[in-house]
Amino acid sequence: MDRRVWGDEDEIVAAALDYARRRITQAPDPVTGARPAADLALAAGTAITPWGIGGAAALKLFDRVLAPATRAQNGSMNLAYIPAAPTRAALAFDAVTSAANIFAGTWESGAGAIHAENEALAWLTQLLGWPGTAAGCFVSGGTMGNLSALITARAAAAASRTRPTDGWKIVCADSAHSSIRSAAQAMDIEVVTAPVDQRGHLTGAAVNAVLDSTTGVFAVVATAGTTNAGLIDDLDDIADACERHNVWLHVDGAYGGAGLAAPSVRHLYSGIERADSFIVDPHKWLFAPYDCCALLYRDPAAARAAHSQSAHYLDAIDRDVHNPSDLALHLSRRARGLPLWFSLAVHGTERYSNAVEQTLTTSRLVADAIRASDHLRLTIDPKLSVVLFERPGWGPQDYASWSARAAETGAMLCVPTQWNGATVLRMAFVNPDTCAGDIIDTLR
Ligand SMILES: *Cc1c(COP(=O)(O)O)cnc(C)c1O
Repeated sequence: MDRRVWGDEDEIVAAALDYARRRITQAPDPVTGARPAADLALAAGTAITPWGIGGAAALKLFDRVLAPATRAQNGSMNLAYIPAAPTRAALAFDAVTSAANIFAGTWESGAGAIHAENEALAWLTQLLGWPGTAAGCFVSGGTMGNLSALITARAAAAASRTRPTDGWKIVCADSAHSSIRSAAQAMDIEVVTAPVDQRGHLTGAAVNAVLDSTTGVFAVVATAGTTNAGLIDDLDDIADACERHNVWLHVDGAYGGAGLAAPSVRHLYSGIERADSFIVDPHKWLFAPYDCCALLYRDPAAARAAHSQSAHYLDAIDRDVHNPSDLALHLSRRARGLPLWFSLAVHGTERYSNAVEQTLTTSRLVADAIRASDHLRLTIDPKLSVVLFERPGWGPQDYASWSARAAETGAMLCVPTQWNGATVLRMAFVNPDTCAGDIIDTLR
């Protein structure tokens, strides 16, 4: 570092790392959260000035004003949307990853880090029951993973078929994540919706019917753990339909893919070993910090053909090695799989299985308590760790105000959703430290 330009930064480095250590080891404060923008601007004042405000002042501003205006995603009573529960080892190693500033796009510049990321991906490959030749990379999130997988699928189709006169299409259920529609929009392709059955699953029969009557479909997207209800589509039957019609099967396991590590629910994923591509967000239910999505392809050559960027200034890159940049829609990338790798290496895969099982047990205990309660009703039987429930007689306004009050007091973060057109409450359990008894007491 050229100290003539930046001056001595040693003191601020020490202060920032000390702060990081405190944040990693401390329990998060559940009452922190967003403030109105004008209010926050007033409290924060101006930090970026021609000569700077200095390290101590900037760090203090972050600690006292900015950080408290963010929600504690890691809290054990945060059950809203999909919260997060990174291990402390993973959080610490995220700081290490940043410190090393590795360019992990190409093997040439990031080999050691990429080797470790690949070891974490190999664990997932094994859980999927895929061949060892499968490969992939880590991208920022499920949205990027889904988009990159669908780009690969279309490129594979386009290599062997002419473009359909009415354009390329994908098939998915309404319960598929919103990012699938976003990807389709970005790719300028059509989404054909197949209906779910009364259990809320996309079935092989429904996919077959759509594929029989629709031309130009290059991929089917099935969900292994819907975000809203934690349901897993009928993967094996859908794989049959895809095989019969020679269509790519992408499985979106952004949230639910973690359940592959849990023996008690592994059978629900049967058929996933036949998918062509798969994603899971370790920042959701695999105890890694933001942002981290594992993207895997059964045949990485198809991804390389779709995603390798070429330019004269990239001519020097060796393409016969594993370059993560060649496998998704990105070029520069941090080694964001390293915190997961480190935490897996520290704790072992058995502890990961136990941690996922622990959250499933918590979900089942809470669901049982709701079943047994006389003022609440379980909306559907939970398959994974999402629990939907309702209070008979309540309308959308009642749910909204109960949810807001519980958030304000820090008792619990639990927000409403919709199920079959009605407002219900939703809890997503990804934190093994969440205690079923605390949740049950709060619901009472
Ligand atoms: C969360 C989620 C996504 C999107 O992932 P991001 O990391 O938020 O981009 C995609 N699919 C499913 C099923 C999800 O739950």
